[in-house]
Order: sequence, then C-alpha cells, then structure tokens
Amino acid sequence: MLATIETSAFTVNEQGYYGNFGGAYIPEMLYPNVEELRDRYLGIINEPDFQREFDHLLRDYVGRPTPLYFAARLSERYKAQIYLKREDLCHTGAHKVNNTIGQILVARRLGKKRIVAETGAGQHGVATATVCALMGMECIVYMGKLDIERQKPNVDRMKMLGAQVVAATCGSQTLKDATNEAMRHWINNPTDTHYIIGSVVGPHPYPDMVARFQSVISAEMKRQLLEKTGSENPDYVIACVGGGSNAAGAFYHYLDEPTVKLVATEAAGQGVQSGHSAATTFLGKPGILHGSRTILMQTDDGQVTEPYSISAGLDYPGIGPLHAHLFDSNRAIFAAITDAEALQAGLELSRTEGIIPALETAHALAYLKYMENTGREVIVINLSGRGDKDLATYSRELAL
Ligand SMILES: *Cc1c(COP(=O)(O)O)cnc(C)c1O
Repeated sequence: MLATIETSAFTVNEQGYYGNFGGAYIPEMLYPNVEELRDRYLGIINEPDFQREFDHLLRDYVGRPTPLYFAARLSERYKAQIYLKREDLCHTGAHKVNNTIGQILVARRLGKKRIVAETGAGQHGVATATVCALMGMECIVYMGKLDIERQKPNVDRMKMLGAQVVAATCGSQTLKDATNEAMRHWINNPTDTHYIIGSVVGPHPYPDMVARFQSVISAEMKRQLLEKTGSENPDYVIACVGGGSNAAGAFYHYLDEPTVKLVATEAAGQGVQSGHSAATTFLGKPGILHGSRTILMQTDDGQVTEPYSISAGLDYPGIGPLHAHLFDSNRAIFAAITDAEALQAGLELSRTEGIIPALETAHALAYLKYMENTGREVIVINLSGRGDKDLATYSRELAL
C-alpha cells in the first residue's frame, strides 16, 4: 500500500496538481480547447494503435533508442562512472522531437487540421515544423520579431520545412509575446487547431502529457543501465532545466526510487545575484505563469522578470509545475550554473569525448566539478542536444 502512495507523490492528480503546483489558470475563451484535451489525452495515448505508431516513429524516424554511452575519459577525470544519454543523436539534434511526435499524433486523433506553436530560439519551432511536414499538416509558428532576427538559421529551417513563421510585434518581441499570439490564434480557431507546447509547462494536461512523451528517455536508461552495470538505478541523474522537459523525461521512471539522486541545473547567467540570470528556484516565488501555478521570477508586485541566459533554451522565467514540486519537496537537488561555467564544460566535453554539446546541456555537465566522488558512483547525464547551433557563441565567447 505504501508503494502506491509513494507512486502518486510525484504524478499529477485529477485536478492537474503536483503538490501545490500545476492546475489550469486560463482565460474562459480557452476552456473548450483545454477541456477537450484534458478529457481525451490519456484515452488516446493509452490506445495500442497510438503506442504502436509512436514507438514506430521514435525508432525509425527519430532514431531511438538513443545510446547510453560510457564516457571513459570524463569518468577518469571526475572519479566516477559517467554515462551520457545521447539525446543529441535524435533527429533534429535534441530531445524536443519526442514530444512533438507525440503531440501531433494526439492532434490527428482529435481531428485537428492545423498546428500552432510558439518558439523562442527556434528549437521547438523546428521540431514542430518537422513533424508537421511528416504528417502533411499546416504549421504556424509564432516567434518574437527580435528572436526572428537573432535566430535566422532556425527561421530558415522552419521555412524550408514548409512552416509559416509569424512575427510577434508586441511587447519585448520575444518568447512571451509569441506565446500570447499563439494562444490568441488557438482561441480564434478552437475546432481545427492544436497548440503544441514545447516543454512541461502550460495548463494541465500539458505538463503531464509532455512528461509522458519524454519519459521514453528514462525507460531506455533503465534497460541500458541494467545491461551495462547490472542495476537499473544509477546514483545520480543530472539534467538541465529550462521549462524542464528533458529533465522530466530523464527523471520520470526514477521519481519513486529514493536512492537515485536527481539533480536539476538551472542557468545562473552572469551570476544568481547579477540581475542577469534565469535561476528560477533561487530567485523565484510561487505564482502563475502560462496557465499553471509554479515558481517564477517576479518583482514584488508580481510582474514577471525578464530572464537571462547565454543559452536560449534555458532563458525562461519559470519552471514546470513538476519541477516546482520536486524543489519544494526536496526530491531533487537544484543547482545554478553560470554562462562561464557552461562554456567551459562544453569545451571540456568536446575535447575529452569528441562530443560538442548544446549550451543548455553544458549546464548539466558543469555540475560534475561540484561533486565529491569516490570512483564508484554511477552518474547519468542527459545530453539533451548537440552544439552545432551554438558554435558561433562558443567561438566568440571562448575566443577559439
Ligand atoms: C529547449 C532545450 C532545452 C530546455 O528545455 P527543457 O524543456 O527544459 O528540456 C534543453 N536542452 C536543449 C538541447 C534544448 O533544445
């Protein structure tokens, strides 16, 4: 019986809450869309036919299972048994496609004809445009006008894939304005459009749905660790957190294994106290962001603070409600990693293992230097994405 209670401690309840966090705080105009999704998502993703199609696409299109690679030189340097879960080898170069594949299959079963999404750096926009091309569905991606100028290669990718990229011209012309415009589009087209959210954020059921799609990461890790070490469970799982989808996927099947320590690394930017940071659990307070009650960076009168990180994927003022609960309940260790530490960790992995990680991922790798290991610890780092998109930043900042 106890096991059952423990199993439910980190899963969403019927009202869409993880502990004190989650729920669906949305304008009335969005009720029909969110309600339809909430009523049907579990039924759809539990259908054998859905699971067959999802598994097939993950295998033959995305390239799963991704390898669990024993990093020998890195292990020697940090006196531990370090394994890298290679999400960087997924089609499109990161874990995000696991979620967009799942959501587009849900959208089709809901009878939707068109997909709308928001994107900041363009990574989620590319993963969405990819699956829309694959399914022959219309794709509209809202992106801040400023981000369109800053992230030209990803804008070109989306256009190549047939997506329509629409500039959000209000406010700061970045991610939050793009999110508002995408929501408005969904409100105006409730019957034929599905909104694909890119992380474990947003109103219930999005955080749970996205976590389930990404949970394939830890399901594979368990099988692969058993084969390589004789145990399904490592001592540590380390992942970076922007909204928290790659971490949710890497933690998912370990949430109820108390011997497995979960480490979530956030972006400290130029330093937690520098005024240029995205370290949400260090700087934030409970509040409501993008439809859920979570922890977010805000001013004393509740205005959302503009976040900062050198890595676009971690440049977000909140975290998903599951992570707020993992923080609140001390189930996960939260650490803040600066831009400079991430750049060095990215350089180190490139030169010790021949793998150039995304700058987001480099924040997870940088945690290694804070650990005191004896040589026996088994550590899995979720290598969320590859660093090709960040090469210009690496070369500029490291003066290569
Ligand atoms: C988008 C992104 C992230 C951050 O998003 P999460 O939802 O926190 O996983 C991390 N790594 C890479 C490579 C990304 O593209």
